[in-house]
Amino acid sequence: MLWPMVRQLPRRMPLAELHCHLGSAVTPSVMWGIAHEQGIKLPTKDYWEFRQMITASPTRGHSFDGYLHLFHWTELIQSSPLAMERSVYEVVGGAYRKNNVTTMELRFNPMKRNRGGEQDLDHIIAASLRGMDRATLEYPIRPGLIFCLDRAFPFDLNEIVVEKAIVWRDRGVVGIDIAGPESSTFRVADYSKLFRRARQYGLGITVHVGEAGPVEEVGQVIELLEPDRIGHGVKSAYDPRTMAMIRERGIVLEICPTSNLQTGVVSGWEEFRWIFDQFRRNEIRFAISTDGPEMLRTYIRDELATLGRLGILSYEEQVQAAQTSLQASFVPKVTDVVAAARKPATRQEVEREEA
Ligand SMILES: [Zn+2]
Repeated sequence: MLWPMVRQLPRRMPLAELHCHLGSAVTPSVMWGIAHEQGIKLPTKDYWEFRQMITASPTRGHSFDGYLHLFHWTELIQSSPLAMERSVYEVVGGAYRKNNVTTMELRFNPMKRNRGGEQDLDHIIAASLRGMDRATLEYPIRPGLIFCLDRAFPFDLNEIVVEKAIVWRDRGVVGIDIAGPESSTFRVADYSKLFRRARQYGLGITVHVGEAGPVEEVGQVIELLEPDRIGHGVKSAYDPRTMAMIRERGIVLEICPTSNLQTGVVSGWEEFRWIFDQFRRNEIRFAISTDGPEMLRTYIRDELATLGRLGILSYEEQVQAAQTSLQASFVPKVTDVVAAARKPATRQEVEREEA
C-alpha cells in the first residue's frame, strides 16, 4: 500500500529507548545461536518454528497472558552468565546500528535468569554489565539496566531483586520496575518501604501499571510507590483524576503502542488516537518505546512513524516524545553522547549486512 509522504524523524536524531525487556529484545537468530552454544534442549530442531515460538504474531490472537508466555523460552535460554553477556551486548549494539538509539535502558528480572536458583545471581548480573561495557566500548551509546520485580513473586524474592539493584547501582543498574502477570497475591502497599529504600539509593522507579490491570491501580502505585515513570499507563486516559495525579507529579508514561495492540490491552489505532487526545488535553508527558523490538517486530522509529502516518502524533509531538525520553532517562548524562560524524546508513543496509 502507498502512503502519503509524512515527515519522519531523521536518522541523525538520536533516540532513547526507555521500556525494553531483554527477554523480547534479542534477535531470533542470536537466541538460536545462544541456545545451541549452551546445548539447551529446544522443543524443535527447525529454526523457523523456533522463530515463531519467540515472536508475537497478529494471526495468533491477542492476549496478555499469551504474550507473556512467549518469554518462557527466551528467559530459559538467557539463564546463564554467557548468555546474558552476549544478549545484552547484542541488543545494545544493535539498537545503535539499526536505529541510532544512543540511550538504552534494558530491563529484566535477574531471578528469572538463574534457573530457579541453580545459577548465582551476582554472576548473572556481572555478566550482563560486562555485555553493556563491551557495547559501550564499540559504540557511542549510554546503556543502563532496570531490574524487574514480578507481581507473581512472593515479597521476599522481590526484595532480593531490589537489594541486588542497590548493590550494583554504581556499575550501571539505574532503576527498578514491577512487571509480570496480574496476580491475586500482589499488593502494592506491601512495597512502599522497599521502594522508598531503592529511591534513597538513587535508583529510578518505574512500574508496569494501567496496562492489563484496572485504572484504579495507577493511583495506588502513584500514592504508595512514587514512581518517576509508569510502564504503559494507557488506562489512565479513561480517568481524569488519575491523569491529574500524573501531571501534577511530572510522571512520564512509557507508551508502547504495538505491544498494547498485540496484547489486546488497546483495541486498535483509533483507540490510541483517542488515548493520545486525552493525554494532549491533560498535558501528560510520554515517551514512545517498543517493550520488545524483536518479539514484537517493531522499533521505536517504526512506532513513531506509524503514529505520524496515521496523524495520531504530529511531527513536533514526535520530536517532543523523543526529547521527553532523553529527559526522563534514569541513565546519567545521556546528552553527553558524541554524535556520529557521518549520517547513519539506512536500516535496510544495516540489516542486510547483519543477515
Ligand atoms: Zn513492559
